[in-house]
Amino acid sequence: MIPYGRQEVTDDDCAAVLEVLKSDYLTQGEVVPAFERAVADRVGASFGVACNSATSALHIACMALDLGPGDSLWTVPVSFVASANCALYCGATVDFVDVDENSGALCLASLESKLLQAENDRKLPKILVVVHLAGHPYNVAKLRALCEPRGVHIVEDASHAIGAERYSDAVGSCSDSVVTVFSFHPVKIVTSAEGGVATTNDEVLARRMGELRTHGVTKDNAHFSKPSHGPWYYEQQALGFNYRLSELHAALGVSQLSRLDNYVGRRAEIAGYYLQNLKGCTLVLPDEGTRSSWHLAIVLLPADRKSAKQSVFEKLRREGIGVNVHYIPIHTQPYYLGLGFKQGDYPNSESFYERAISLPLYPTMTDCDLDRCVTAVNSVL
Ligand SMILES: *Cc1c(COP(=O)(O)O)cnc(C)c1O
Repeated sequence: MIPYGRQEVTDDDCAAVLEVLKSDYLTQGEVVPAFERAVADRVGASFGVACNSATSALHIACMALDLGPGDSLWTVPVSFVASANCALYCGATVDFVDVDENSGALCLASLESKLLQAENDRKLPKILVVVHLAGHPYNVAKLRALCEPRGVHIVEDASHAIGAERYSDAVGSCSDSVVTVFSFHPVKIVTSAEGGVATTNDEVLARRMGELRTHGVTKDNAHFSKPSHGPWYYEQQALGFNYRLSELHAALGVSQLSRLDNYVGRRAEIAGYYLQNLKGCTLVLPDEGTRSSWHLAIVLLPADRKSAKQSVFEKLRREGIGVNVHYIPIHTQPYYLGLGFKQGDYPNSESFYERAISLPLYPTMTDCDLDRCVTAVNSVL
């Protein structure tokens, strides 16, 4: 089976991890800060805060922005559940903004009318989580124009999008948002096995996220609320978690990050081949002027053929093509139905889901694998 995604781990990666394994520090050493620095520098942000997953990073980002009971967070239904769950962890509520039917990305017009309504009802959200679906950079500047005047914080879920750019502005630079979160899960662009990094230009936010990641504890003299007892002194000032990344994971991340451009380049090449050679379906494309990291090759079946999706999917799997689907709309998950959302609430998200199939796309995919995928898709369709 040609998988839909897979990591590449090189001898250099193994050597980097082994070196840490034999060193004095398996956690809380120098490698995690080096990984944070490397990610922040790469995307042009002032600070990076590493966590054991992007999910944890989203959680502490929301906490650091004081999301709590009585607040709401908005995101899109076409994403992984983590984009919404972070609100619930904070005791806040979630609401969704429908997507554009053909891109799967947040629909700006829907957002605008929902914001106007919420403004009238005095129920504006505290946070909007925007998702760079498939690694295609969303135009966050346009969101900012709607959100900033209303005091809505923008958090970018860039789990798919390290290495992506919009007019030379890297996703993660936070030029139009407060925080950006990257995932380093093995199916993403580069991996630390498990891991996530939040980038920000706000020093206070970076410090708060760093503390929340480690039990809400600070060891910084300058921020103690009581007189220090001595050099061993630390203070717990908030209820945080142990969301730390280990030194081993960070070493893998640092080593992988050095190949980011090669990976994004090869992914774009594969996407280009799909674009040129696929017939009978539409590849979801990034905007002009952007460089996508091409996390996913999502193709859409024509609307009049969506009833064939299951059989298309099953035929491709039988042909050894490891297709997948991104995403089952979050609001239709049983847990979210239990919160009161209903099938039919976000018709564009549901229609995108009914038509979407993700094709294999990963940097070590050979031209021969790629040709097999194209031939199989074209013959099945
Ligand atoms: C993978 C993913 C996450 C979660 O990442 P983890 O590092 O596995 O916690 C969140 N949001 C999106 C859009 C993702 O694809």
